[in-house]
Amino acid sequence: MMVTIGVLAVQGDFEEHMAMLETLGVEVKDVRLPRDLHGIDGIILPGGESTAMTTIMLRRGMWDALKKAFEEGLPAYGTCAGSILLAKDIGAGSDRVKPFGMIDMVIERNAYGRQIASREVFLEEHELGEDEPLHAVFIRAPRIVKVGPAVKVLATYDGDPVLVREGNFLASTFHPELTDDYRVHEYFVKMVKGEV
Ligand code: GLN
Repeated sequence: MMVTIGVLAVQGDFEEHMAMLETLGVEVKDVRLPRDLHGIDGIILPGGESTAMTTIMLRRGMWDALKKAFEEGLPAYGTCAGSILLAKDIGAGSDRVKPFGMIDMVIERNAYGRQIASREVFLEEHELGEDEPLHAVFIRAPRIVKVGPAVKVLATYDGDPVLVREGNFLASTFHPELTDDYRVHEYFVKMVKGEV
């Protein structure tokens, strides 16, 4: 089954996601305007700045169009800033971030430190098959502090959930697109195909 995956391309590291998906052999489409949502089977919300993404999406009518698409079942995977956008609750967060509320979790922005606080780790605790640890890069990452009962935790770091799924929605607080570990993207493609 051939699928087309869109990557929200308004701000952030969308090009890395597009390259990764292309390597996996799926059709990839950059999504900048509401009309770009036609013909995609899933979408990735990249890392970057959730404040800037919110502002640009609201200005372009993208926020409402995406919210409607999510409610109609469009699968989505959010990394880092994208994971903040998928959350139901961003705590004190920022009033310049308007999350879509698709995953029942509380997530705190920039909870691991300041701008320079980035870290590359290998996650031992994950459920993506094979025993190999999952390669993860955290950059000013948010922290998932609470998940609801319908949320499946697929990977943890230091006891915190860092890869979670609720129904059609997948979120990681880290950036697999900055590594050569394709397993999270592969998992999302399978999700879009209805295989997992
Ligand atoms: N700190 C950013 C935010 O709050 C997320 C950082 C990232 O996506 N690498 O939106």
